[in-house]
Amino acid sequence: MAERLDKIVIVGGGTAGWMAAAGLARNLRNGHTRIQLVESDEIGTVGVGEATIPPIRNFLSMLQIDENDFVQKTQATFKLGIEFVDWYQPGHRYMHPFGRFGADIDGLPFHQYFLRSRSLGKTHGIEDFSLTTAAAKQGRFAASGGQGFPPNHWTYAYHFDASLVAKYLRDYAEARGVQRIEGKVVDVSLDKDGAIDTISLENGSIIDGDFFIDCTGFRSLLLGEALDVPFKDWSHYLPCNRAVAVQSENVEAPIPYTRSTAKSAGWQWRIPLQHRTGNGYVYCSEHLSDDEASATLLGSLDGEPLSDPRLIRFNTGRRDVVWKKNCLALGLSAGFLEPLESTAIHLIQISVAWLLALLPDKSFNAVEIDEYNRLVTGVYDQTRDFLLLHYKATERDDSDFWRRCRSMEIPASLARRMDLFRANGRCLIGGDELFALTSWLAVMMGQGVTPEGYNELASSLKDEELLAMMEQMRGRIAQTSQSLPTHEQYISTNCAALQL
Ligand code: FAD
Repeated sequence: MAERLDKIVIVGGGTAGWMAAAGLARNLRNGHTRIQLVESDEIGTVGVGEATIPPIRNFLSMLQIDENDFVQKTQATFKLGIEFVDWYQPGHRYMHPFGRFGADIDGLPFHQYFLRSRSLGKTHGIEDFSLTTAAAKQGRFAASGGQGFPPNHWTYAYHFDASLVAKYLRDYAEARGVQRIEGKVVDVSLDKDGAIDTISLENGSIIDGDFFIDCTGFRSLLLGEALDVPFKDWSHYLPCNRAVAVQSENVEAPIPYTRSTAKSAGWQWRIPLQHRTGNGYVYCSEHLSDDEASATLLGSLDGEPLSDPRLIRFNTGRRDVVWKKNCLALGLSAGFLEPLESTAIHLIQISVAWLLALLPDKSFNAVEIDEYNRLVTGVYDQTRDFLLLHYKATERDDSDFWRRCRSMEIPASLARRMDLFRANGRCLIGGDELFALTSWLAVMMGQGVTPEGYNELASSLKDEELLAMMEQMRGRIAQTSQSLPTHEQYISTNCAALQL
């Protein structure tokens, strides 16, 4: 039997580094393997990952973290979805909600019945059949409650302060034995097999380890630079390559959803936290200057800015592989997809889960490394397709940027999915896909990908039965959402942030 790892070295202390440290500290309790994390205060973190998607709750429960404690200490709010404004056409808005639309009947997805009801002249939007959308629009939220609430499809995520999350996870990991080392890595040396042997810090110390986790952000110091793993550039699909970000004062009680507003050369996010609002303009530098982006951002804030806008440059894409020899990259060092659907932290989370499932020993079994690379690169590729859908399915014609997006080539996998949906509303989701049916339906229907027909199986109900059932569902959703407390009330009763 191969020898177990003596020492794991995590390089980088952003969200990725501390999520990995917390996940390993919680699960790897053999009393043998030491975990060290090296980070440089001088370099700092990217610090802007503030919106999440529902599986983040599995991460907290895996770590046995109490939700209210986490929300209190990270200035968090609750998120029921994303509102997309001006994406399809200027003046148009739709919601990509968490949870699901309606309820399936006899194994047939609800939206097929919805499409049939539309063919009978009913004009409701599919959003009327989403409980999370109804609650979001009314500014209501509850994590749990009496009288059959939450129903089993109720789900939510968080908006939080990224630097407070890193601190929270750092406290968690250090309390479980992770040793933090402050220092700047200036050199990485390889052994005779081309694996990482040691890293050297600016202060002269040398750190060895059996397994290195590269969480150094966009620099990708270990996997990208030292091990020379190429970067697969996806800017021909997703042309945005910069963001300006600024925090602003809250002017209203935080709403329980993210807002994404399309702009002339990209889009702007608005993420409400308990103590402030995060804002940013993600754009393509070929179509907009940095100064114009900052001016647009500052001009559209609803509260006073709390600092000057910060410019962040990025390349969209991923490393060819994310694990090579004894080095695995997590977070920005593995790849980056713009934050349109708040997926980056999730990609870290799922990568940590797969690392735990495939935890190596000193033999670094090639088939296990291959499997990890297959899983992680696969989820990056799927996420890319879903993001791309937002840019491709638009009727905006008001700038070069949007004309470029509308006419761009898309991967065959995405083209097939859109064609299939346009025909008879069919959207088949593979078992390992990150974005479920609700997500694809929300964005396709929200952005004008309209089915011509529907699945004939939806004709199994008589017209009157179908319409009565739809009305009943709509009524139940409206009633349940109105019974919830406001988001503000829920937070103040359960998890108001500690005063800073
Ligand atoms: P970083 O935060 O950059 O951390 C890198 C770490 O490496 C730092 O601790 C640094 O000190 C250390 N380091 C680097 N070089 C050295 C060295 N030489 N020696 C020692 N230490 C070193 N994600 C979401 O899920 N939701 C969002 O809403 C979201 N919004 C985003 C908006 C923008 C504009 C961008 C760019 C990203 C966004 N993300 C979002 C992504 C998210 O911010 C990152 O995935 C997440 O913060 C993880 O970053 P990281 O830990 O990989 O890197």
